[in-house]
Amino acid sequence: MSDNAIFPGDKIASIEEYEAGYNTFDDGDMVRAATVGQKDINKTTRTVSINHPKMLSIPKDGDIIIGTVVAVMSSMIAVSIDYINGKPTTSKVECICGTRNLRIRNVALVNDIVTLKILSHLNGTIHAGISEPELGVLFTKCRKCGGKVVTMRDAIKCTDCSWIDERKLSSNFGKSDFFNLRD
Ligand SMILES: [Zn+2]
Repeated sequence: MSDNAIFPGDKIASIEEYEAGYNTFDDGDMVRAATVGQKDINKTTRTVSINHPKMLSIPKDGDIIIGTVVAVMSSMIAVSIDYINGKPTTSKVECICGTRNLRIRNVALVNDIVTLKILSHLNGTIHAGISEPELGVLFTKCRKCGGKVVTMRDAIKCTDCSWIDERKLSSNFGKSDFFNLRD
């Protein structure tokens, strides 16, 4: 966080100048911060808000994220976001990604590392897509033995037990520098 960090209770504006926005309250005289964060003044609406660090790490539509698969369901996967546009985030925001239309047996497994594109925010849920070539699994293991896998045409093969499986692989699969994709 930068030097203009605000702490709860800090005076951020006079109520004659600005109305209380997000994460603020007005004490009858001053607008004060209700949370830790950074001041965000909107001169058009004449409101002042505090951007909480967690709000800053929610991805926007079109952002590319890298995250860890935390759940695999029949028609979607849930992913805990670790990087937004190449920048690390610690807030553990989750997104979901539909997998029904992919016709792949195991799109991704729990604990796989995947890269997704954020598509939309609906009812508080962040939806992401995986269909573009550079999107998909960046790191996975053998489903049978946990061994290392290598690509074999459209499939993956375990170097330990030779189990052949499928994933929706990213075109960057197997590249070690995937954490700097966007930089
Ligand atoms: Zn194996």
